[in-house]
Amino acid sequence: MSIVSLPEIMGPAFEQRYGVAAFNAVDGITMDGLIRAAEESRSPLIIQISVSTVKFWGAEVIKDTFTHLAKRVAAPVTLHLDHCPDPKVAQTCLELGWNSVLFDGSGLSYEENFQKTREIVKLAKQHGASVEGELVAVGGVEDGVGSEEEGELLPLDNEVEFIRETGIYCYAPPIGTAHGFYKAAPSIRYDRMQQLVEAINVPMVLHGGSGLTDDVFKRLISLGAAKVNISTDLKKTYADGFRNYLEARPTEYNPLKLIGAVRGDVVKMAQAYFKIFGSEGKA
Ligand SMILES: [Zn+2]
Repeated sequence: MSIVSLPEIMGPAFEQRYGVAAFNAVDGITMDGLIRAAEESRSPLIIQISVSTVKFWGAEVIKDTFTHLAKRVAAPVTLHLDHCPDPKVAQTCLELGWNSVLFDGSGLSYEENFQKTREIVKLAKQHGASVEGELVAVGGVEDGVGSEEEGELLPLDNEVEFIRETGIYCYAPPIGTAHGFYKAAPSIRYDRMQQLVEAINVPMVLHGGSGLTDDVFKRLISLGAAKVNISTDLKKTYADGFRNYLEARPTEYNPLKLIGAVRGDVVKMAQAYFKIFGSEGKA
C-alpha cells in the first residue's frame, strides 16, 4: 500500500528541498494518469480534490477510486482536499479516511479562522490526518472558491502565531501567486516565504503554480515550498486533450482510444512537473 500521510510525503521534500506536485484531479482519468506518471517517474504525488469536484462525484466515490488506483503502485500517494471553507465537507472527507484537508478560513475574521482551523486540526488528528491552513486569501477564484484579489496582508507575527497555535502541518502563505491563468508575471514575495520558514520551520504550500517559470518554482522550493499546487494546467491539458484528439479524428468513436490519449497527455504533463520540482526518482 503506497497511500501515505501528508507529513510522510511532505516531510522529506521539505528537508531535502524538493517539491511534491499536488494536482487537482477531476475524475478517474486524471487520477489514473497522475498515479501512472508518479509510478513511472518514481515520484511522490499528492492528488488533491476541489470542493466542487467532491460535490460532483461524492467524497466516497473519490476516496474509493483513489484507493483502488493508488494501492497498486509503489510510489507514495496522498489524497488531499483543496480549499475547503466548509467544516462539514472537511469532516466528511476526514471521516472517510482522506489523508489531509486545506481548511480555508481566509474569508473569516482572524479569530474565527483560528478557532475553526483548530477544531479541524483536532478532528483530523482523531482520524490520523493532517491540515493545511490558510490565513490570507490567495488571489484568484478556483472552482468557485476565493476572490479575485489577494487578501490583505498581516504582520509576520500573526502568521507565525496562527501556524504555531492552530497546530496545522503546513501553510499556504500569501506571496503574490494567484489561481487561474496569469495575465502578467506575478511579483513574488520570496522574502516573506523565507521569513516564515526561518521563524517557524513548517513546510509551505505554493498555490497558483500553473504558469510560473521553472526559475520561480525552483527558488520557492529551495525556500521551503514542499507542496506545489497545479490545477489550471491540468484542466487545460485535459480539455485540450479531448479537443485536439476529436478535431484530428472527427469520425473516431472509440471512447477508450480517446480516454487513453487524454490520459497519456496527463502523464506527460505530470512528469514534466516532477522533473522541474526535483521529485523525480525520490520515491
Ligand atoms: Zn489554491
